Amino acid sequence: MMKKVPSLAEMLQHLIATMSVSSVNPAFDNSNLPLIDLLAEWLTAAGFRIEILPIPNHTGKFNLLGTLGSGTGGLVLAGHTDTVPFDAARWTYDPLILTKANERYYGLGTADMKSFFALALEAARGLTATDLTAPLMILATADEESAMHGARALAESGRSFGRYALIGEPTNLRPVRLHKGVMGEVVRLIGRSGHASDPRFGNSALDGMNTVMTALLKWREELQQTYRHPAFPVPYPTLNLGYIQGGDNPNRICGECELHVDLRVLPGLDPAELRSELARRVSAIAEVRGLQWSVEPLFAPIPPAETPADSAIVCACEVLSGHAAEAVSFGTEAPFFNQLGMDTVIFGPGDIAQAHQPDEYLALERIPPMLDILRGLIKQFCCSV
Ligand SMILES: [Zn+2]
Repeated sequence: MMKKVPSLAEMLQHLIATMSVSSVNPAFDNSNLPLIDLLAEWLTAAGFRIEILPIPNHTGKFNLLGTLGSGTGGLVLAGHTDTVPFDAARWTYDPLILTKANERYYGLGTADMKSFFALALEAARGLTATDLTAPLMILATADEESAMHGARALAESGRSFGRYALIGEPTNLRPVRLHKGVMGEVVRLIGRSGHASDPRFGNSALDGMNTVMTALLKWREELQQTYRHPAFPVPYPTLNLGYIQGGDNPNRICGECELHVDLRVLPGLDPAELRSELARRVSAIAEVRGLQWSVEPLFAPIPPAETPADSAIVCACEVLSGHAAEAVSFGTEAPFFNQLGMDTVIFGPGDIAQAHQPDEYLALERIPPMLDILRGLIKQFCCSV
């Protein structure tokens, strides 16, 4: 006997109760398979074809694609299965038990963003393949909060999914089509240590880094004068010198120095080209001073995202929500989906202010409008004649 899709409230309960924390710290990292299995069971009951896609080189991590209907084009409703780690002692409610209070659902992942899968399934409830002229897909990814391994694996596979995608990250029911990219880079200089009393004994990495920092602040000015995007509250790329470590004692010439740099890049800028330019500027100084140098990523960059303002999915979300599409300051999986030929909008019922916080919640009043908008999108992109 085929199982039924549970009620919306039951789905929400199960999603929040199924631990799926991801972290770059292995001590906090969990497999997302229990959550994938849950979604696979419900999607199967809803008539979707299921593909569970293991992520190469990441044991225990999976993406899941559910497809209803067939053909080209179509709509992908996407989300990440993982949450950030949590500190239960700082929560009023149990983060792993869905709690209804104050006209809100509290729980880890209610806003960011496991609830979205229940809403997508609820919006598709009762649909069958014969209702659709283009496929409806529900896509669940792994490790968005830690390193975006799931979305990166999809992008590397080069496989085409739908023509349009919506990612249900928390945006207060407003469409988002732009965000900056995020890079973290490590600059290292190695010189030669020696007694502080005689500079001839060494070659100071710290002195070299001082010159590098001056050069990077000048580069920051150039970037800010050259690149502008008025959609962003901070309308230029930012470069922050956030961490430095070097030397061991005032009476020794510093042998090694390390600087960490954060770059927030506008759409249209390529993280790989920025890293090359950073390396060029560091190497020019290091070579004059006879220092060894390296520039390496602290993590794989999140590229910037921009979906055209006149894309059909952007226009549809604007009409259905009554809000013009916006830019946000957080990174998402959208650039990887855009690489696969999907015009992608970020649009979800939660509030980013609640994400990654104790007592994360989703306001109950956000649920009916989100369902209406999802049904409107399904109708427009999967049921047109
Ligand atoms: Zn998220």
